[in-house]
Amino acid sequence: MVTTFHSVQYTEREKAVLFTVVREHTPEVDSLLDELAALVESAGASVVGRLVQLRAHPDPAHFLGSGKVKELKDLLCTLGGDVAICDDELSPSQQRNLETTLEIKVMDRTQVILDIFAARASSAEGKLQVELAQLAYLLPRLRGKGVLMSGLGASAGGIRTRGPGETKLEYDRRRIKSRMADLKRQADELDRHRSLARSQRAARSIPTIALVGYTNAGKSSLLNALTEGGALVEDKLFATLDPLARELVLPDGRTVMLVDTVGFIRKLPHQLIKAFRATLAEVRQADLLLHVADISHPHALEQILTVHSVLAELAAADKPQVIALNKIDAAEELPALPELPSAIPISARQRINLELLAGAIAEGLKDRPVRVSLVIPFTRGDLLGLLHAKGDVISVNHTAAGTEVVADILPRYANKVKTDLAKHD
Ligand code: GDP
Ligand code: MG
Repeated sequence: MVTTFHSVQYTEREKAVLFTVVREHTPEVDSLLDELAALVESAGASVVGRLVQLRAHPDPAHFLGSGKVKELKDLLCTLGGDVAICDDELSPSQQRNLETTLEIKVMDRTQVILDIFAARASSAEGKLQVELAQLAYLLPRLRGKGVLMSGLGASAGGIRTRGPGETKLEYDRRRIKSRMADLKRQADELDRHRSLARSQRAARSIPTIALVGYTNAGKSSLLNALTEGGALVEDKLFATLDPLARELVLPDGRTVMLVDTVGFIRKLPHQLIKAFRATLAEVRQADLLLHVADISHPHALEQILTVHSVLAELAAADKPQVIALNKIDAAEELPALPELPSAIPISARQRINLELLAGAIAEGLKDRPVRVSLVIPFTRGDLLGLLHAKGDVISVNHTAAGTEVVADILPRYANKVKTDLAKHD
């Protein structure tokens, strides 16, 4: 793996100044910058300043106009900034020009997000897709100036001063392209595997619950906590590498499938949207969304709203949703969230309120049929009638003991039939 992309390392609390260009300074602009600030801080740097330029379009050469570039340079100098971070994706030449003029490291939102995803990706699929996205970001930035090659880590020895020769660049480009082709093949393979697993689930009528939420909210931890010891369901080879989906038996006895997804962020880099299409497909096809939020985070509510707007973009905002406010063990005090009256405070780590959460999931699925397999005595034609009237009868088999029926039916009718049959015994 010679071309593995090494993310930019933040030194001890590097100081960052954020900048952006907007037509109009709306509250939305501030909230996007707040989000970028939170991302930068969670990547280990601290944000010491912001600069917003009002302009119809970014400058093609420097992103900011020349007066503002000078202002940014002064600001960085005054605040002792080590890095300037743009809230939009910079073109390779804009980044290069800014680094030359500012004489300081320049990054953009995409790079920050890719760094965070690279540090957090834990599943085989996640790692593969993040690397693919990083290489897609890196490739057009390879030519020319040595600074840009810093992303290539070990293979970039000395280039900061000399700049690599064209032959070496050509070689790196070829290696990156072939690595990308290789990663794409693996991604397609996983994708096929996933859609197969999805259709098998549908055939068995098992509801799927997608865990969604901001990155680092505790989705994977919650998946593990809820299904501890539960069966891994994907086939063996993938299961060990990639524990993305697990079975969970709810308090009402219904078996569901929990599927993990990547974290949500606004203005998700386009390289990542493409890379994560498989996981996003899980979200679109889920029967219920389990939205996990980190309630100990100072920007918890903003993160929840971000997830809501990403779900709206995915046309998944109307799905039944259960909100879990995770990490209550770490929260100073629970903020009042009148916007979210039915949210359930939990701790995945301390296993607090997990039963309550499972109950809420069952409640959220009450309008989705369960598959039942029953033997109806010949004397209870009425129950058989109910199954036919209210449910979807899959198979009927007459035996000496009665009629064996397999049907998909809403839980409330299933419960009625089961209660009546129990009385019969
Ligand atoms: P994901 O990105 O949403 O999948 O988040 P992870 O499950 O990887 O968790 C992110 C971090 O939060 C990890 O360091 C977890 O150990 C931590 N974490 C998860 N759940 C809890 C919790 O209930 N309490 C605390 N204090 N930390 C938690
Ligand atoms: Mg995770």
